[in-house]
Amino acid sequence: MPTEIKVPTLGESVTTATVGKWLKQPGEAVKEDEPVVELETDKVSVEVPAPAAGRLENHAVKEGDEVEVGAVLALLEAGAAGKAAAPAAQAAAPAQSAPAPKAAAQAAPPAETDYDVVVIGAGPGGYVCAIRAAQLGFKVACVEKRATLGGTCLNVGCIPSKALLQSSENYHAAGHDFAAHGVLIDSVKLDLAKMQARKADIVGANVKGVEFLFKKNGITWLKGHGKVEGTGRLSVDGKPVTAKHIIIASGSDSANLPGIEVDEKVIVTSTGALELSEVPKRLVVIGGGVIGLELGSVWQRLGAEVTVVEFLDRLVPGTDNEVAAQFQKLLTKQGFKMKLGHKVTKAEKTKKAVVLSIEPSAGGTVETLEADVVLVAVGRTAASKNMGLEEAGIALDKRGRVEVDAHYATNIPGIYAIGDVIAGPMLAHKAEEEGVALAELLAGQAGHVNYDAIPGVIYTWPEVASVGFTEEQLKDKGVAYKTGKFPFLANGRARALGMTDGFVKVLADKQTDRVLGVHIIGPAAGELIAEATMAIEFGASAEDIGRVCHAHPTLSEAVKEAALGADNRAINI
Ligand SMILES: Cc1cc2nc3c(=O)[nH]c(=O)nc-3n(C[C@H](O)[C@H](O)[C@H](O)COP(=O)(O)OP(=O)(O)OC[C@H]3O[C@@H](n4cnc5c(N)ncnc54)[C@H](O)[C@@H]3O)c2cc1C
Repeated sequence: MPTEIKVPTLGESVTTATVGKWLKQPGEAVKEDEPVVELETDKVSVEVPAPAAGRLENHAVKEGDEVEVGAVLALLEAGAAGKAAAPAAQAAAPAQSAPAPKAAAQAAPPAETDYDVVVIGAGPGGYVCAIRAAQLGFKVACVEKRATLGGTCLNVGCIPSKALLQSSENYHAAGHDFAAHGVLIDSVKLDLAKMQARKADIVGANVKGVEFLFKKNGITWLKGHGKVEGTGRLSVDGKPVTAKHIIIASGSDSANLPGIEVDEKVIVTSTGALELSEVPKRLVVIGGGVIGLELGSVWQRLGAEVTVVEFLDRLVPGTDNEVAAQFQKLLTKQGFKMKLGHKVTKAEKTKKAVVLSIEPSAGGTVETLEADVVLVAVGRTAASKNMGLEEAGIALDKRGRVEVDAHYATNIPGIYAIGDVIAGPMLAHKAEEEGVALAELLAGQAGHVNYDAIPGVIYTWPEVASVGFTEEQLKDKGVAYKTGKFPFLANGRARALGMTDGFVKVLADKQTDRVLGVHIIGPAAGELIAEATMAIEFGASAEDIGRVCHAHPTLSEAVKEAALGADNRAINI
């Protein structure tokens, strides 16, 4: 039977990759561990090795295809003889080529400019970059087409979702958990309109806050649609603007599934899911990633029956396997229904419901699933269209992300990019760090982002947070490591809170004891991860964390105990 060559685990929060160059052709002989194909991920390019010697049977995917972690790339007849590799006839084509700039884009840069720095997009990447640049003495403007500042994150992302997560958690706790504390409530009622109004107020205060910060720092908000024209030149709603440095921070948009038409009412993206005016009886979430599970949690706590359909046979790919398995167990206990290893192939709207056709990811019997609301949460794509990038000759990768060097410079002089529109995890704090680093680089300082110390948090119940390498990544890299684990069940504060689900896991280098990864599932995991991130940033050892005095009784003692556990010397277990 042929051996499957699959997309390996690729890294923290990395769920998909783009197929690069095939290094072996069907019929060719391959040696064990010989690279067969290149994959490009958010973070790096990786070569996938053959698991055994033999003959490559086929290519199951083609160059440029987007593939999920675990998907089959090729089949290998292990042990079979194959033909020798053909000599390379020509130099390989570059992974992508920059489009030729149009004549207008080749115009000489302006001698005098309106601004030193113009940032396109006022999300966490763009607005933070604008503020840091202004602090450093640049004359700055920021172009934003939305009616309010703050981007996806403040308007339709991080902030409104966390507001609804908190409100729905309170509602659920009042109905289910308070009684255990001796707090009895006769009947808990939901006022969804009020909950939504509270969320809108929080969003309003945040976006107004950015407007205030722009005024405080002397940043001009150029309202309208920005288009890049070439070095030093752009337009805002057609009006020319000039700048020494142009920064693209246009973010990302929800990805679509072919054949499924979003109307933001019954078939919604995250934006529509934040605005529902009634709790759906049956909610189907397509995609078992962070956004789907957070918003699924909101509506599940408010009374919806939630089914998650996920292509892979696990949730939140890229997360440490042990954490993901525990997470799945706890969500299932809460009432989530899981259809893992399945794909949605069709969505038909009837008068009463949306009827989804689903089948096993590898193909098989089709079944139907009815939903009152369907949330499509299959990832996000870079917002790089309709802003003149291709006309200006700016190189994009196969996923439409702007290509940049280590200093965020595109291939066109004076034009830079940061945040969701470039490679890397699509996270607000990653965008912010890049904004700060770029502003400092433009000012001649040593701006820098440590991509090994970017935490990721899932704000469900319990929370899931991680930083650094997962156990699977360390195994793949052949790094010798040791593990310390501590359950919240053995933490006094967690018991007092009545929140004992989950654990802290610390991974440290076996020889040097340096902290390589920390993974937490449990109460306030999103807050606890800050200590671990600091430890990784400062190159701390597990012993360093274990020797720091942690207040008692706090949840943070679980982090200390897990660190001590890496040296088999945890106290309270
Ligand atoms: C539901 C949801 C929840 C999320 N929760 C979290 C979370 O808890 N934590 C986290 O870290 N991340 C979270 N994210 C991801 C986070 O929102 C993004 O990573 C972050 O907003 C990216 O910042 P950015 O500045 O790169 O782009 P964006 O925030 O997308 O901002 C880009 C801005 O550019 C503007 N723009 C685009 N093109 C143009 C143009 N041509 N002219 C003028 N303006 C333009 C857009 O209108 C937009 O306002 C969440 C996302 C969603 C959807």
